[in-house]
Amino acid sequence: MGRVRGYRRTTNYRGFFVFLFFVFIVTLVYVVKDSDIFEKRLPEIEMEEYSYWNPKVPVPIVFRDESSIKEYSITATLANGAKVLDLKEVVLDKPKEIKINLPIPKIALKEGEKLHYVIRVTDWSNANFFSGNTQTKELNLIVDSLAPKVDVVASSFAITYGGSALIVFKAQDENLKSVIFSNGIDEFKPFPYIAKGYYAVIVAWPIKNTSFSPLIIATDYANNQTKYRVAIVKRTKAYRKSILKLQDKNFDQVHKMLLQIGRKNPDSFAEGGAKFKYLNEEIRREDESEIYQASNNFPLELIDKAPIFERFYPLKGGQVVGSFGDARHYFYKDQNVSNSYHLGLDIASTKHAPILLSNAGLVVLEKRLGLYGNTIVVYHALGLSSSYSHISTFNSKLDDFLKEDSVLAYTGSTGWAFGDHLHFGIIVQGHFVWIAEWMDSKWIKNNITSVLQKGEKIIKGQIK
Ligand SMILES: [Zn+2]
Repeated sequence: MGRVRGYRRTTNYRGFFVFLFFVFIVTLVYVVKDSDIFEKRLPEIEMEEYSYWNPKVPVPIVFRDESSIKEYSITATLANGAKVLDLKEVVLDKPKEIKINLPIPKIALKEGEKLHYVIRVTDWSNANFFSGNTQTKELNLIVDSLAPKVDVVASSFAITYGGSALIVFKAQDENLKSVIFSNGIDEFKPFPYIAKGYYAVIVAWPIKNTSFSPLIIATDYANNQTKYRVAIVKRTKAYRKSILKLQDKNFDQVHKMLLQIGRKNPDSFAEGGAKFKYLNEEIRREDESEIYQASNNFPLELIDKAPIFERFYPLKGGQVVGSFGDARHYFYKDQNVSNSYHLGLDIASTKHAPILLSNAGLVVLEKRLGLYGNTIVVYHALGLSSSYSHISTFNSKLDDFLKEDSVLAYTGSTGWAFGDHLHFGIIVQGHFVWIAEWMDSKWIKNNITSVLQKGEKIIKGQIK
């Protein structure tokens, strides 16, 4: 019994030490595995990718590593092989992140000079036989310190609040990245016009904007930027303001309309005012955003000849029954329940009157919208589109290219309309503009056609 007991005891002791040793090994393996002291993740080098470079514009670089940064080095070599920068920094305080600006060689750099940079960063990991992980990044930069040259070639003399204008300009740079026209709030894409480095753009001062600050913004690949303020006379204009009183029967009409649209249950609104506001503002916004998308999606192809625009006159013998820009304030029992802008011109003629297209164009939207009803949007040229709403019958299809004087549809009263009429809109890159200008041959000639022709003539003279 005793021997057996002793034998057992001995076995238990040895077993215990074997067990302890096993626990020690397992723990050690886990500690080493879980610790970062041997991690093999490369440090990160975060920076914007450039190929053109203005040495005066700082290029930020961020080095990042979980087990902290030990050292970094940056060298720069010219095309002829001369090393013009050789920097090495050993970092003592073990930061996980370092931010620097790309160092510049202390020599005069010529325009167009090519530099080859090699950036290396090493972390404090013990991986790779205690030498750490090294990340390398190579950059090929071309010195470009000249900002784009911008100048106006021809432009409309003035722009009216709510209206349009045309600008022909030049934006030149060896490495031009982007050029945009801004009215201070909205951006417009210029069209390459006649020759390389020249542009034409129809711009708008939408009625929603109280100010108009015309800027041409040209940026090159080195991020050199020119902001050119366009000199143009700004004219104010007062648009109509209407106070409209709603009655209970209007809410019944809204109810029917919402059932038709089928987006939201009209019974889900607590009261008529909220129901009306939803139709007049939310559904309107959705419709206008569809029109915006359709009319703001066009190719920026080179225009090699001044386009001609005819005045718009969609309904023969039509009577204007609703004006553009009308700020409509709706009241129910002395309470202002909703507000909206009327962004088109309402024209009425006989029932189901033919709608004529005054300028050739491509059908970019043909759809039953909520408030606007059956709507067609036609894209003409230079970012200009026209829209036709509440129509009864379509006489064209999406993607049709229609000639001028085509009958594209017939008037009706689909959507939120009382009586057969056409809601007609003119759109500049998605923005509804004051229509009277585009229905006036003289305005079109003075502000659009002759500016384009003058621009064409000047550009042809300059490129000779
Ligand atoms: Zn209307």
